[in-house]
Amino acid sequence: MNKYVLASSNKNKLKEIKEKLKKFDILSLDDIGFHSEIDETGSTFHENSYIKSLTIFHHCGIDTISDDSGLIVSCLNGRPGVFSARYAGSECNTDANIRKLLNELKDQNDRQAKFKTVICLKNKSDHFFFTGECHGEITRFPQGKNGFGYDSIFVPNGFDDTFAQMPFKLKNKISHRSKAIEKLVNFLI
Ligand code: IMP
Repeated sequence: MNKYVLASSNKNKLKEIKEKLKKFDILSLDDIGFHSEIDETGSTFHENSYIKSLTIFHHCGIDTISDDSGLIVSCLNGRPGVFSARYAGSECNTDANIRKLLNELKDQNDRQAKFKTVICLKNKSDHFFFTGECHGEITRFPQGKNGFGYDSIFVPNGFDDTFAQMPFKLKNKISHRSKAIEKLVNFLI
């Protein structure tokens, strides 16, 4: 069976991705002894996922899968986008990011947004991208305790609950990340 390294240290992302890749032999960054931070210097999800996959592939020579993702809010011209993880500044945390976003939207009725994931698979001769999006709306205040990041303020279209109010399995069936991973799985099998 082919081995793949999953180039992420975000526990929540790892949980979501691993659940979908159960049939494959997946190594973590710990497994390959990689403990450094990778600078996400790209200006797009594609660039950042490629940077992560290339860095890890060069480190270990094993086919590598990485994910770069974020929240894109229509009336904010696509922000926070690639800056989703550090929206409120480099020392920020999830609560500060959410507070900043809700504050920017406080007088806005157009609350349309989408999550986007780009997965990059890098092997010795090539690289491949797989994308997934999930459209929805930003709530007026956080609701729910599950998930991570902006899950508590995002209601996907067709649902009444935020991602953070949904059971893990439901989010992982309809999310941007699951759509991208399903494309990856179809490519790998
Ligand atoms: P990355 O690690 O550079 O891809 O940063 C992604 C950031 O986008 C995370 O830290 C979260 O803030 C946000 N994000 C990405 N995917 C999700 C999700 O599924 N739910 C909530 N927030 C997410």
